[in-house]
Amino acid sequence: MRDMVFEPGASLCERLEQILREIKGQSRGQEVLVLAVSKGQSVDAMRQAIACGQKAFGESYVQEALVKQEQLSGFQLEWHYIGPLQSNKTGAIARHFDWVHGVVREKIAGRLSTARLESGLPPIQACLQVNLSGEASKSGVSPRDLEQLAAQVSVLPGIRLRGLMTLPERSDDQGVLHERFSQLRLLRDALNLKGYGLDTLSMGMSSDFSVAVSEGSTIVRIGTAIFGERDEK
Ligand SMILES: *Cc1c(COP(=O)(O)O)cnc(C)c1O
Repeated sequence: MRDMVFEPGASLCERLEQILREIKGQSRGQEVLVLAVSKGQSVDAMRQAIACGQKAFGESYVQEALVKQEQLSGFQLEWHYIGPLQSNKTGAIARHFDWVHGVVREKIAGRLSTARLESGLPPIQACLQVNLSGEASKSGVSPRDLEQLAAQVSVLPGIRLRGLMTLPERSDDQGVLHERFSQLRLLRDALNLKGYGLDTLSMGMSSDFSVAVSEGSTIVRIGTAIFGERDEK
C-alpha cells in the first residue's frame, strides 16, 4: 500500500494540509470531512489542530472525551463518537456528541434515541456500521441485515440517519480495499433507491483514506497521520 509520506519534521498543520491536498486529488467531486481522531492524544495536540482550523474530532472512549470537551469548551467543535456503542454509555453519548459512527443494533439505537430526546438536543447524526469482511472479530451489521436495521433506525425520532460506516480488515492489497469501499458505496446507493436519502460514507483511516476517497468517502477518520502515534489503552 502507498502510505502517505510526510517530510521529517513536518508540523501538524503541514500534515493536515498534505492530507487535504491528497483528498482533493482523489475525490470524485464529493465534499470530504476530515475527522481528526484524537483518542489517546493530548489536549495540547488537539489545540494545535484547532489552531490549524480543525473543528471535527473523533473519540472512542467516553470518559476521555468528556475530560477533553471540558478543557476545550471555549471552542466551537464537532464531536464524533467512533467507539463501540454500549448500552450503559448511551446517555452520555446522547448528551455529549454530535455524531455516532457505529450503530449496529436496533435496541441500543432505541436507547440512544430516547436519551437524545430527553436531552432536548436535536437528533444525533448516525451511521450504521457495516461488517464487509465477515470477520467475527469485527463489529457491524452484515450486508444482508443492513436494510432491516436501516428501516428500524431511520424511524427513531432522536436519531438522524446519515449514512454508513465501515472499518475494513487491514490489507496491503489495494484491490481488496477498493473492493470493500466500493461495496459500502453500492450498499448506500441501494438504500437510497429505496428512499433513505443517505449522504454519508464514513470510510478511510490513516493507512487507506486515499483509496476510500477515490471510492466516494465523505468522512475520513484520521488519527496517526495527523497526530503521530497515540497512547494505546
Ligand atoms: C482509531 C480509529 C481510527 C483512526 O485510526 P488511524 O489509523 O490512527 O488513522 C479510525 N476509525 C476508528 C473507528 C478508530 O477506532
